[in-house]
Amino acid sequence: MLNRLNIMRGLLVLIFSTLVSVTGFAQDIKRGITKVAGDVYRFQNNFHFSLVTVTDQGVVIVDPINAEAAGWLRDNLSSITDKPITHLIYSHSHGDHASGGKVYVDAGAKTIAQANAPEAIDGVAVDQRFEDEMKLEVGGKTFEMTWLGEGHGKDLIAVVVRPENVAFITDAASPKRLPFRDMPNSDIDGWINQVKKIETLDFEFFAPAHGSVGNKADATDARIYLEKLREQVLAGLKAGNSVDDLVSSITLAEYKDWQQYKGWRELNVRGMARFLTESGQAN
Ligand SMILES: [Zn+2]
Repeated sequence: MLNRLNIMRGLLVLIFSTLVSVTGFAQDIKRGITKVAGDVYRFQNNFHFSLVTVTDQGVVIVDPINAEAAGWLRDNLSSITDKPITHLIYSHSHGDHASGGKVYVDAGAKTIAQANAPEAIDGVAVDQRFEDEMKLEVGGKTFEMTWLGEGHGKDLIAVVVRPENVAFITDAASPKRLPFRDMPNSDIDGWINQVKKIETLDFEFFAPAHGSVGNKADATDARIYLEKLREQVLAGLKAGNSVDDLVSSITLAEYKDWQQYKGWRELNVRGMARFLTESGQAN
């Protein structure tokens, strides 16, 4: 029953996406605005997505991505609303998601980020900060922001939009998609805890900053993937295997249909081996 429900939800997302899709190709950059649910949309800029919610008062955007992307979205928002941009929320401060916020600030947006974010994010001052949780009410929508702890970065948050129950999740997990390359500059144990934190949130649609829209079960699957990878790499290292041996033996074949399996499985194994070694757990 749950599966059937999920398939139906998936189909609905697909139908909505097709109906309201506005796509543009400029300099081979794939851009477009697609509906997730209700008044919540995703804006795609190649392999990055931001979240766009239309409220009765104005538009709330999570992540600018970069200045060119933000400029495109500002100029194409009229395809879904004539409301002004009122708020820019930062999912975290990593440059590939958090650059170019000035475009929205110049358009009148107030900025919100987690307390650990730098003083200014790509030159943009943060108007409002929060430690663990913050609730923003705008024009009939509620934005529940939750700090995910340290792991992938120190200032990563999840944003759940109600009443649509859409969770926007950046980098820590994506539905049926491997983590990015060798998971650089990350405390991967903290990262696993970040996904556990996501699993405690109440949401229906899992809208990631990378990859396709899924549902809450996809967060659990993403955490189990990381735990399996960790367990197998740790066992291999403790048994004295080289990292090259582990790349050959740890196939994670049950994930062969996930996005980026071919490109990033090897890098995931290497990144996990590096983390476990550098954090002194492999000895
Ligand atoms: Zn990041």
